[in-house]
Amino acid sequence: MSTNIYVQRICEYCKVEFTARTTKTQYCSHKCNSRHYKEKSKKANISKSNNETVEKITLEVQKIRMLDYLTVKEVSVLLRCSEKTVYRNIKNGNIKAINFGERNIRVKRSHIDELFKS
Ligand SMILES: [Zn+2]
Repeated sequence: MSTNIYVQRICEYCKVEFTARTTKTQYCSHKCNSRHYKEKSKKANISKSNNETVEKITLEVQKIRMLDYLTVKEVSVLLRCSEKTVYRNIKNGNIKAINFGERNIRVKRSHIDELFKS
């Protein structure tokens, strides 16, 4: 669509004013065009990945909500804290737990819910 027109436009990427030959031109150069495209697809990929993570956590939490007795790892997912924090709170008595043996601690899920009722 080459015409004889000359229009002043501002590049979408580098924001520099340039003379375009069509009213649809968005970039001052092919370089700016591909750089902006790259930047946009990078941002899209990041947000897609973040959404996937949120979905995974939500799914995991839904799964945990169906269980009556939880492992330390499941409690940490539910409370969104580290396993270390869960262990510490079991030790200091904030979280009631039964220790069936080495690495075999179980916490009643309803107890976790009760922690937040006051
Ligand atoms: Zn540019």
